[in-house]
Amino acid sequence: MERRPKSEKVLKGLGVSSGVGIGMIHIRERGTVEVPEYRITANRVATERERLKDAVTRSRRQIGRLRSRANAKPGAAGEELGFLLDAYFHMLKDSRLVRDADRRISEQRINAEAALQATITEIGEAFTAMNDPYVAARMVDIREVGNRVMRNLTKTPAKPLSVLPRGCVVAAEEMTPAETARLDRRRVCAIVAVLGGAQGHTAIMARALGIPTVLGVPSLLASIRSGDDIVVDGDTGEVVVNPTPETVAAFKHRRAERKRDARRLKALRRQPAVTRDGEEVILQANVELPIEMELVNQVGAAGIGLLRSEFIFMNRRDVPSEDEQYQALRQMVEAMGGKPATIRTLDLGGDKATAALFGEYGNSAASGLGLRGIRMSLSTPDMFDTQLRAILRAGAHGPIRIMLPMVIGVSEVQRVRKAMHRAARRLRSRGLTVADPLPPVGVTIEVPGAALAADALAQASDFFSIGSNDLTMYTLAIDRSDKQVADLYDPLHPAVLRMIQFSAAAGLRARIPIGICGEMAGDPRYTALLLGLGLRDLSMTPANIPRVKRRIRHLDLAAANRRTRVIMDQIDPARIAALLDDFNALDLKSGL
Ligand code: PEP
Ligand code: MG
Repeated sequence: MERRPKSEKVLKGLGVSSGVGIGMIHIRERGTVEVPEYRITANRVATERERLKDAVTRSRRQIGRLRSRANAKPGAAGEELGFLLDAYFHMLKDSRLVRDADRRISEQRINAEAALQATITEIGEAFTAMNDPYVAARMVDIREVGNRVMRNLTKTPAKPLSVLPRGCVVAAEEMTPAETARLDRRRVCAIVAVLGGAQGHTAIMARALGIPTVLGVPSLLASIRSGDDIVVDGDTGEVVVNPTPETVAAFKHRRAERKRDARRLKALRRQPAVTRDGEEVILQANVELPIEMELVNQVGAAGIGLLRSEFIFMNRRDVPSEDEQYQALRQMVEAMGGKPATIRTLDLGGDKATAALFGEYGNSAASGLGLRGIRMSLSTPDMFDTQLRAILRAGAHGPIRIMLPMVIGVSEVQRVRKAMHRAARRLRSRGLTVADPLPPVGVTIEVPGAALAADALAQASDFFSIGSNDLTMYTLAIDRSDKQVADLYDPLHPAVLRMIQFSAAAGLRARIPIGICGEMAGDPRYTALLLGLGLRDLSMTPANIPRVKRRIRHLDLAAANRRTRVIMDQIDPARIAALLDDFNALDLKSGL
């Protein structure tokens, strides 16, 4: 009997790790743990609580062992895994997961497994209700830790990752970061999963391993069987199940094109970022995690233009010590080999809440108009002084600058300078080496009030960096993480451009360095306009540096200046976009 050919099916998800993978599907089944649930009598409560405590202790010991092994692993993936296991370790020390499960045993008189399961479900529901991709991504971590405790309670061993066939594509409902880290990239050519987002640790891990990955594909499991062929495009988020030979050929072609493009871009590493008419531009990297340092050096960044220090505070309930912060920052400063690093002080609040501080400052920190950024730092002097001391000590290992987020007034900068001098004196009295001379102190221009008062702020600041992400959000009153108004979020709105122009002019007049570190800086579409507005220092996610450098090398600055003047006379964002795109298209044609 003739077999009917399987029909091709196209699915769509979120491309989170670049590249095209073509191979045979291997479905990763989760080793489901049977959860016994029953009521207990009052005299059994202590025993069940003890069982939970034992399972938590055993889980902590296991994670501790895994952590030692991760630390011994060389390279970025080992480092990232170490970080993650640290976070798991802390979650088992004191977290809502363990506390609530323990409380449930006594209050609801249920066995430890049932209490744990109910807690995982409740946290999951609360996280989903928050409708925040970053928080949603943290649920993977809760489940990973919860399942480990559950396995220890039920004495169910973890299902080992089977030896995967070479060239397979791993498909799963959800891949945890730890599982992802255990994948052998010589065997796995792509990952695809139902759950997960671009900001989760699974995505970060996949990028660190360089495995093309698409997450968030809702109907995946209903559309595939182990052994089917599949194509996964980690750039566009396309997934094709049972592709026809023509589809496979098209994706192979796409893969070859991208590889060629990547090679061409790589060749730019040692080329200067200079326009066709000889203007030099500084291209720096925005860094969120130490794992990115490898790439920062590979792409030849001139420095770190924005080191977001939040990573040291995330995924934990306690505030990191001076030493912990110092070690984390020192490693990154040293990795720059003498190139400068601009360390931004803690910018918690808005969508960047952390368990360590959220309990105390909850609503105000979350509002985005409350105790965010420098406001929180100045209202928690002990914590801020600790961070300043860690930064100053890291500054003894390489050139640094200190940048302050969410500044609106001169007095904030002055208070920070005083705190910095105090911190330096204290360190010296402890016999420790600090940055000498003390680092420049600058501000992120990201609040409209700061932009409009930029001339005053320039008198108090050693440098400016325009935070166009928040500047756009606050100028247009559009929450940058709210999907409902995402189409209104437009950095080409004339109000935003005027804010940038005004701040840049104030910085230039005061002769202080001025750069930009919002997402705009990393998009070649905006490069001509940003240069036209007087900016010569662009800081961006490291992977974007080669593309922006290519744009600069094709660009004629005199023409960009002329086009910027025309653009700045416009009032309609759509007209501005058309004028810019038209200029880019023309300039590219003549420059190639
Ligand atoms: C910005 O607001 O543009 C910025 C660079 O800071 P963050 O994205 O961390 O708020
Ligand atoms: Mg900001």
